[in-house]
Amino acid sequence: MDYISSRDTIVSVKASQAIIQGIAPDGGLFVPEEFPQMDLEAVLETAKKGYTALAAYIAAPYLDEFSEEEVQDIAANAYDAGFEHADKAPVMRLQDGQYVLELWHGPTLAFKDMALQMLPHLMSASRRKIGEQARILILVATSGDTGKAALEGFAGVEGISIAVFYPHNGVSRAQELQMVTHVGDNVFVGAVRGNFDDTQTAIKRVFGNAGYAEELAGRGFRLSSANSINWGRLLPQIVYYFWAYACLVRDRAVSTGGPVNFVVPTGNFGNILAGYYAKRMGLPVNKLICASNANNVLTDFFTSGGYDATRPFYKTISPSMDILISSNLERLLFEIAHRDGARVRDWMATLRSKGAYQVAQEYMEEASALFAAGCCDDAQTKETIRNVFESRGYLMDPHTAVAKRVLDDYMDSAKDFAPSVLVSTASPFKFSADVLSALGDVQADADEFELAARLGGISGMKVPDAILKLQDMPIRFKEVLDAGAIEARMLAWAQMQSKG
Ligand SMILES: *Cc1c(COP(=O)(O)O)cnc(C)c1O
Repeated sequence: MDYISSRDTIVSVKASQAIIQGIAPDGGLFVPEEFPQMDLEAVLETAKKGYTALAAYIAAPYLDEFSEEEVQDIAANAYDAGFEHADKAPVMRLQDGQYVLELWHGPTLAFKDMALQMLPHLMSASRRKIGEQARILILVATSGDTGKAALEGFAGVEGISIAVFYPHNGVSRAQELQMVTHVGDNVFVGAVRGNFDDTQTAIKRVFGNAGYAEELAGRGFRLSSANSINWGRLLPQIVYYFWAYACLVRDRAVSTGGPVNFVVPTGNFGNILAGYYAKRMGLPVNKLICASNANNVLTDFFTSGGYDATRPFYKTISPSMDILISSNLERLLFEIAHRDGARVRDWMATLRSKGAYQVAQEYMEEASALFAAGCCDDAQTKETIRNVFESRGYLMDPHTAVAKRVLDDYMDSAKDFAPSVLVSTASPFKFSADVLSALGDVQADADEFELAARLGGISGMKVPDAILKLQDMPIRFKEVLDAGAIEARMLAWAQMQSKG
């Protein structure tokens, strides 16, 4: 399988190169040259052997330069340990026709673990495959959850250093504590003045700076990315769409081949894009419902074909979705443009220069047939958390609650009653203060751990160890940087790492 750039189909590399490079040389994103077609019966059979087996099965055709055994090792290293649920990603019945795919049973309590437990092993296998000698420096911009999941995933992985940047005052207290207490020598964590888009743009600029790459190379480093634009992040995410479907068939919620909707709380468009890829591989997906918070740029896009990031940025109680520039949308644009890289290049150039672009109606037809979209604000999110808890006894984090709200609205208006899977992206204990406040239990002066204990008491859920253990960990990282200072800081850090 070769990978092409979303901006120029002439660029073509193997998976190992796509994963190490992170982004194509022309600034585009790597996409597989075709979508392997899966036999649904075979998928269902494989899923009976468990999540790890299914992950290897789905990933194999995309990684054909690796042996079957190598792919199985990568999947086993990713999923055999670190998840506290035997199903890894269990599917729960919420109510008639609505199911919850819980993607937060990994080490950092958010769905990012599903990909970031696998990416480091993909990267290290790719590094060996291409004979890379340089140490790899991973730069990550995080809206909250990716940072810790990446730190956790790359912990102790040979030949790799990792630096994580998050928006100052832009993540939850639990998210921040998870990052700034992280131990390990190959790790840097910094807060950036500005919001997530500022942070992400700064990191993208570093990747686009060829002179800087040379300077780093002189110090024995090669830059790479663990952000959701990396193909090695997307690939593992395709797996759980097939997995969820297999669970529904197993539980007789759908018959083999029957249509299923997925509703996905969306930020950078990576998660839902993986659902789209699953559909292209033959999964019977009816609708993909894109759920946004008050930063509803994607809702408008799917309604009108206009993508307009020039709008106020809101800090919400679902911070991992506080994004106005959804990088992975570029990969969907590439498909709806019938893989015309020049068209995508135009849209992206207009986005850069004007902050907005318009996709003509002829291109939107296919997207509109498959995608639905909706949004809700913080008040509606909180109301949903409370309603679901009171009526079903099920506790949702704010991101999942946004999806629940959007799903209910969608079912009301579209009268589409196909079984629907809510893709649940975080444990409520990552957002204890807001979840408690949604339940009407406001604790003004309590610290994160008192809040978690209180939430545990009300819900009857056990406070996750991943939260409890933060209590005794010293804060290691306190730097707050300007976005423009990242390059210099990283050069200095790389210097120290290479001496390390
Ligand atoms: C990252 C994240 C999202 C958004 O996922 P994308 O792939 O960026 O669309 C939603 N919810 C949570 C909890 C997240 O961590």
